[in-house]
Amino acid sequence: MLTKLRKIVLGFSQEADLAKALQQLVEQVKSAISADCCSVYIADYQAGHFRLMASDGFAQTSIGQVCVGFSEGLVGFVGQREEPINVADAQHHPYFKYLPDANEDDFQAFLGTPIIHQRKVLGVISLRQYQVRQFSELEEAFVVTLSAQIAAVLANAEARHASFTNRQQQLYHQPLKGIPGSSGVAIAPVWICQPKAELKNVALTRDSNHKKQLKLLRMAAKKTRADFNKMSAELSGLISDQSLDIFEMYKHMLDSPALTQEIESEINAGWNVASALKLVFEQYISKFNNLDDSYLRERASDIRDLGNRLLSYIEQAQEQLSSLPEQYVLVAHEVTASMLAEHQHRGMKAMVSLTGSQNSHAAILARALGLPAVMGVEQLNLADLSPVTTIVDGYSGELFIAPDEHLLSAYQALVVEEHFLADKVKQVVDLPAQTPDGHIVQLQLNAGLAVGFEHSKNAGAQGIGLYRTEIPFMNRQSFPTEHEQTKLYSEVLSSFAEQSVVMRTLDIGGDKALPYFPIEEENPFLGWRGIRITLDHPEIFLVQVRAMMRANQPYGNLAIMLPMVAGAEEVDEALRLINQAYQEVSQDYQQLLAKPKVGVMIEVPGTIFQLASLAERVDFFSVGSNDLTQYLLAVDRNNPRVSALYDSYHPAVLHALNSISQAAKRLSVPLSLCGELAGEPAGALLLLAMGYDKLSMNPHNVARIKWIIRHVNLTDAQALLNYVLSLSSSQQVREHLHQTLENWQFGGFIRAGM
Ligand code: PEP
Ligand code: MG
Repeated sequence: MLTKLRKIVLGFSQEADLAKALQQLVEQVKSAISADCCSVYIADYQAGHFRLMASDGFAQTSIGQVCVGFSEGLVGFVGQREEPINVADAQHHPYFKYLPDANEDDFQAFLGTPIIHQRKVLGVISLRQYQVRQFSELEEAFVVTLSAQIAAVLANAEARHASFTNRQQQLYHQPLKGIPGSSGVAIAPVWICQPKAELKNVALTRDSNHKKQLKLLRMAAKKTRADFNKMSAELSGLISDQSLDIFEMYKHMLDSPALTQEIESEINAGWNVASALKLVFEQYISKFNNLDDSYLRERASDIRDLGNRLLSYIEQAQEQLSSLPEQYVLVAHEVTASMLAEHQHRGMKAMVSLTGSQNSHAAILARALGLPAVMGVEQLNLADLSPVTTIVDGYSGELFIAPDEHLLSAYQALVVEEHFLADKVKQVVDLPAQTPDGHIVQLQLNAGLAVGFEHSKNAGAQGIGLYRTEIPFMNRQSFPTEHEQTKLYSEVLSSFAEQSVVMRTLDIGGDKALPYFPIEEENPFLGWRGIRITLDHPEIFLVQVRAMMRANQPYGNLAIMLPMVAGAEEVDEALRLINQAYQEVSQDYQQLLAKPKVGVMIEVPGTIFQLASLAERVDFFSVGSNDLTQYLLAVDRNNPRVSALYDSYHPAVLHALNSISQAAKRLSVPLSLCGELAGEPAGALLLLAMGYDKLSMNPHNVARIKWIIRHVNLTDAQALLNYVLSLSSSQQVREHLHQTLENWQFGGFIRAGM
């Protein structure tokens, strides 16, 4: 049963045409259950009814025609109850509604199951049987499991397949809601950053210029064929003739008139060449994947490879045609750190990512760059976008495509206000972060982007509180050598020669992958991350720490910080390696170097209960509130589905932060916080009140936070903290903080965010 279920779900998700996918689904389910009829109804919320979209058993003429109101019939009843309804004798059920157009006279038994995605009923699967009988529990479980599995695919497919003009109309008339990723507002045309050529990444797009599309297809086929000829010539003699056959097979496929005809007919039906390739190749891939013969199943990957190759030539040709506009909003399915690094010095004014959340590392980097960002705009379809003016509101997480004059001028006024505020806070940039009643807190920088130090140096901070070393490891083909790392760290340490620089050892894993060190895990945030990786690979750790110490030799301003520590044993092992590196480098220099201070990040909740034993081993603590929040609340920081639950203002997080501060005071350990909370006006005030010595944030927030600190007495911040700690939900906390900051005249600083 499980194999059948998998096949049905796989087939459904791989079929690009929704109508075909639904029809295939009903046929397969009907046969898996041995029912006499299987149908799918899809909800239309505007019309208030379910429409029959596919059926194997009802009259084919009724498909697309028959509708059942949300409060009508057994199908409506399933939707209302949001649970399966299993009736042996449907015609005598009080909710039964006869559908004359569907030829349902002879059917008796009824099993209806809702298809629900994110608490919303998308449709109903119904099964019918001629005889009066109750569907078995096993059959019911099968359909329930199936509907749960296809729900997300259907939600996306619906978005993809809604009529193009309809979708565009919606897109152009309503704001799209995402997750605020980085505050600020930008107005510019959109520019789509395509990921590498893969059929699965192609957004179905129409193009009426058939001739041009056919020409592109021929060009791609020619280049791909030439590739195969070259590869087989280069490899002949090196690999067996049998292995060389693969190229012959590819060429054979490429020249197959049937394949070419199918692609051409999709182009003639109005799809652009990339979409045509996707439609045809994915159908083949799905067919091969469904075969029982394992050798033939393997061929699915050859077909995919061929399709991707053709696609890459098409995308290359198109890239040459499209040049970057002067200013643009970068939009991508998944904005990555390397995309931001590549575009930061071009005309990128904001970024929009269809995936990810406010604490994804791409969002953190956007904040570091002062770039407005909206994350997780799941309902946006790249195929619907054209390079029209768009407003990105990084405060509310909204996106307005082709806004009207009225909205445009309102946002233009906001951009002016932002500039005004930025100029205002600049006045305090060189002053201490001191409250009017005399309490001083140190503001430091979060850094890691290879560029931007010039700007950071003038941000008004006292040194670097978190240098994320993994970021410069990302845009490369291999681990940097000790020499390369020494050079890199020297630049950082010399830029802040008079101030302390806290360098964190490599924190990869989770959502930070290195292209040359892939980690495949079911549960990456609970897996091989940070110190766990580097302790398992002392060769990587030692090289990094030695490079840091070499770079530190002329300056002596380095401190080393260990990420993702869960207990004292890890610290002991790391200290042993740090000491070994220290001895080695000292020997090289033939003198004992200054020993850097070593600290740990407090981001795994277990460390909150081990602060005393950690304090015996290290020189400072730095709270990583981004991870601490995700682990305390058990919410993946990168998952847009649960992003509403990820909240650093949750009472549990605030109490944890407060108790860490009290313990650090008792243990006389210097304490800083380097998560995103430190750079938020309300967060910074609460942390100041808790007694944090240092707050580390991205350069763009320093002046703003300094301004706020310089305008609030410590005693007022403490009163605010005491009240907030008595509240029992994130919402209450946020509302109270929002109101207080408004009353204190900081409304302009916070707008929709905190
Ligand atoms: C944190 O977890 O708060 C932190 C600063 O580290 P990162 O965001 O890089 O995991
Ligand atoms: Mg962290």
